[in-house]
Amino acid sequence: RKCLNRIKKSRHLNAYITVTEELAMKQAQEAEGRFQSGTPRGPLDGIPFAMKDNFCTENIETTCASKMLKGYRPPFNATVVQKLLDQGAVLLGKTNMDEFAMGSGSTDGAFGPVRNPWSYSTSYRDQCGQEADSDWAISGGSSGGSAVAVASLSSFLALGSDTGGSTRNPAAHCGLVGLKPTYGLLSRHGLIPLVNSLDVPGIMTRSAQEAATVLGVLQGQDVKDSTTVCHPADQSDLPDDIDITKLHIGIPKEYHAPGLMPETVALWGRVADLLERAGARVELVSLPHTQYSIVCYRVLCAAEVASNMARFDGLEYGHRSGIASSTEALYASTRHEGFNDVVRGRILSGNYFLLKRNYQRYFVKAQQVRRLIADDFSQVFRSGVHILLTPTTLTDAPSHAHFIQENNQTRSLQEDVFTQPANLAGIPAVTVPTALSQRGLPISLQLIGAALQDRKLLTVAKWLE
Ligand code: GLN
Repeated sequence: RKCLNRIKKSRHLNAYITVTEELAMKQAQEAEGRFQSGTPRGPLDGIPFAMKDNFCTENIETTCASKMLKGYRPPFNATVVQKLLDQGAVLLGKTNMDEFAMGSGSTDGAFGPVRNPWSYSTSYRDQCGQEADSDWAISGGSSGGSAVAVASLSSFLALGSDTGGSTRNPAAHCGLVGLKPTYGLLSRHGLIPLVNSLDVPGIMTRSAQEAATVLGVLQGQDVKDSTTVCHPADQSDLPDDIDITKLHIGIPKEYHAPGLMPETVALWGRVADLLERAGARVELVSLPHTQYSIVCYRVLCAAEVASNMARFDGLEYGHRSGIASSTEALYASTRHEGFNDVVRGRILSGNYFLLKRNYQRYFVKAQQVRRLIADDFSQVFRSGVHILLTPTTLTDAPSHAHFIQENNQTRSLQEDVFTQPANLAGIPAVTVPTALSQRGLPISLQLIGAALQDRKLLTVAKWLE
């Protein structure tokens, strides 16, 4: 009930698209009954959670923040949703995002932008629910609603999706722990795809321990997602003490990227020193192909988007245009009316990259570059480095006015410079809130590890907290 009240009080943040109040109360009462009879189901029984609106939820509207899916009620639950429900967790609602998870601000959805709870001024708060004249910071994205739900204390945990940084970016801007697990560790079944070869469900919590608990519940092989791996889940708590002296930390020199905020650079150095003073071995390493990750992602993302979005034709799901003079005309007008310009832009560029004459030159080349980027990481980990320490974002959360001024297509990709490479390599990464900037907004650092080292990353994250 407290969470639901909190959702009502913080409506101006625009974190939720759908609130499942009745269902939540029913689930909470059932959980309470289990507690009273001494039979709770596990660590998440009765814990309220929120879910990005690109995970299918049975009979609950699932929109991807797009007009295209308005009114779409899936007939099934995504595997990760089902696992949480089976554990007794209580679904509060579906959270706001960039349309079809394309973006890094949560400014581009059909339901309006998400606001960062760290930033809104008193005058803004007074006019709760109305458009603010004062400047406010974006939540980051594309899973901004999930991050704001946890940061504004309306939910205990939330799931996002992470294709190029969409869980870590908003978690960083909202001061949360945000885990992008190893590709394949969590099932993607029921997660409406952006880029199938990069997508993973992401976990947002207030602490590394909580993220580890959720990971333990969600991971595991799923017959409905052939890319899932079988890896034994460890349900035990993260150790309180870890031997930092055995850690070998790498600082990738290419991550000193243009546009990186000086405060973040200073913080990055301070944390590296802290680890070194505690006995870790800290050294500069090189990931030479990082510089190509944005262009590489751009091609791969657009190509997979072009193919994925073909299913939205006005016949099976959601929106259908009234213009139906021919099947072609129906497809075209449905997509024109249903998708925003970011989505349409990616479909067009993806189809261009996939043209017969361009396929080798762009798509195949990008796949080769992707391999080189992944190989960079493997080499560094093979040389004995356990974990890489990097910034998560270039700056603290930009103001909304500033963010939308810049060309959105470029900005949303530039923002992911530190997060995308881990998706291209399929390896785990976690963002850890580390300090506040002069503007009073969170600054976070990222830890990246080798495949399936998710728990180890969280253990070091816990040490840094
Ligand atoms: N910002 C990137 C994009 O716009 C990544 C999005 C994501 O991780 N879902 O595609």
